[in-house]
Amino acid sequence: MRNYNFNPGPAALPLEVLEEAQRQFIAYGGGGMSIMEMSHRSPAVERMVEETGQLFKKLLGLPDAYRVLFMGGGASMQFGLIPMNFLKEGQTAHYILSGSFSDKAYSEARAVGNAVAAASSKDSKWRVLPDTASLLLGSNAAYVHMTTNNTIEGSQFKHIPDTNGVPLIGDMTSDIMSRKMDFSKFAMFYAGAQKNIGPAGVTVAAVHENLLADCSERIPTIMKYSTYADNDSLYNTPPVHSLYMTKLVLEWTERQGGIAAMEQSSEEKAALLYGVIDASDGFYQGIIGQPYRSNMNVTWRMRDEALEKQLIAAAEERGIVGLAGHRSVGGLRASIYNAVPLEACEALADLMIEFQRVRG
Ligand SMILES: *Cc1c(COP(=O)(O)O)cnc(C)c1O
Repeated sequence: MRNYNFNPGPAALPLEVLEEAQRQFIAYGGGGMSIMEMSHRSPAVERMVEETGQLFKKLLGLPDAYRVLFMGGGASMQFGLIPMNFLKEGQTAHYILSGSFSDKAYSEARAVGNAVAAASSKDSKWRVLPDTASLLLGSNAAYVHMTTNNTIEGSQFKHIPDTNGVPLIGDMTSDIMSRKMDFSKFAMFYAGAQKNIGPAGVTVAAVHENLLADCSERIPTIMKYSTYADNDSLYNTPPVHSLYMTKLVLEWTERQGGIAAMEQSSEEKAALLYGVIDASDGFYQGIIGQPYRSNMNVTWRMRDEALEKQLIAAAEERGIVGLAGHRSVGGLRASIYNAVPLEACEALADLMIEFQRVRG
């Protein structure tokens, strides 16, 4: 029996994908061995990596000017690599601070060079999104960094700010592939796979060739984005199995109807849960102000922590797992990424309504 999995990441994967991986686990595509046992220089693995990149581009509708790179180290590694590659002496990196992950990215940039907050909602404890309508960017701005969905707090930018020609870099780890967006506004965006597009172990970065041409020369080869681009992500051994799983998830995404279908189902799932919260007369209190709410991570609190724990326990009894809020926020969080079916959200909504009837 499988649980209804609301884990924040690593997160639910489609059952179809797990079953397909299971079928191919011992012998991949008639190759007589598992893909994990193959050389990353073999035609089968090269083809798999190339097709994964092509499918990623196709699903997002990315123009050819973007290179899709597969890397290790998670999204957190990108926090450090971005300033190492793109923040030069005499330049300033601008960070839009909207949640704990954006703050982490900002502190990595400050460890590398000169970085400032272009906008911040830290003083509001991340409960709102900062105003990005008129960002003050100096003439020496290297780039602007933003987090499109704040996984821990449960907020999401609905509008991508204008940066007046300064390259915009987006951490899309927790909402990549979940909604249509004007990706061409970004000079680069990246995502750890383990939320919407695969398992942990691989990070996807899409980088425009103009930005790629600007990588710092004075850093180790393995840390340069241009190395990954010049070698089709095969400069060294990539996380082959994670990449393969990501390919299966992208194929699944395409079969579901692509990004448009994902967006529609995300809206439906989120509306269902926020609907229960809003109709509860304060029994459930949304943590994030209504206009900023995320369609990926639904966060709420209850009267006291004891009651929150009871709901989490009642959920677990029904096989509904992963609801504890992040330790920095408390309360509850339902992460409803692409692979979480509507049925799981219905089960959670039913439980919440029933729990309020009994305990409210
Ligand atoms: C999960 C997450 C991260 C951290 O990802 P790792 O792959 O664990 O380093 C960074 N940014 C966002 C927005 C996330 O959701």
